[in-house]
Amino acid sequence: MLKNRMVDQPYGTYSVYSALKTGLCVTCPYCGGMGLVTYREGQHRFQCAACGRARAKLLSGYRFRVQNLCQSCGRYYNVPIQDPRRQTFPVLRVPCPYCGFVMPGRVEKTGQAVWYGGDGVLRRGQDPIFGFDLWFLTSFDGKPVWALNREHLAYLIGYLSARLREKPPDNPGLRTQADMLPAFMKTAKNRERLVRRLTELQKK
Ligand SMILES: [Zn+2]
Ligand SMILES: [Zn+2]
Repeated sequence: MLKNRMVDQPYGTYSVYSALKTGLCVTCPYCGGMGLVTYREGQHRFQCAACGRARAKLLSGYRFRVQNLCQSCGRYYNVPIQDPRRQTFPVLRVPCPYCGFVMPGRVEKTGQAVWYGGDGVLRRGQDPIFGFDLWFLTSFDGKPVWALNREHLAYLIGYLSARLREKPPDNPGLRTQADMLPAFMKTAKNRERLVRRLTELQKK
């Protein structure tokens, strides 16, 4: 499975910002199919490719959610809290969207300022605009692993399965896309198992 070498992409090649131009792949909260989040003319839009439901949102305000690692099925999830009355509680009991197991979780509040910072929000495996789970989302040793879209997923598989990874030759001092990856993804002992997980996601 391991290939020989690959040249890394410049930092930010795959980011929320770039993915919003062609479509950030998310899981539709209505039908569980794949939907796209895009940004055009000052507005974020969600459109489900499966059921056709759509939403639009201007950049403003805060988002609230509960995130947990399910003690029953072991999956990582984020549940957006939309009801303003429930948003005032520090802890809420929410059911796991995959298996229904109810667990308490801290209610977290996120402001728009961090949306494009990317890393902190995205490590939870959620789109930073509507708070939907990313479509290409899995977990690895209890940590969420995700890709923004199919191109990003292909990049991750290519990067992690290469024996030798190189910086772009024209500017070797430059930060690269792989600098955005958490350390556990770059650890040699994890790479083959990660590639298998990501390859499973490709079949979605
Ligand atoms: Zn749908
Ligand atoms: Zn569960």
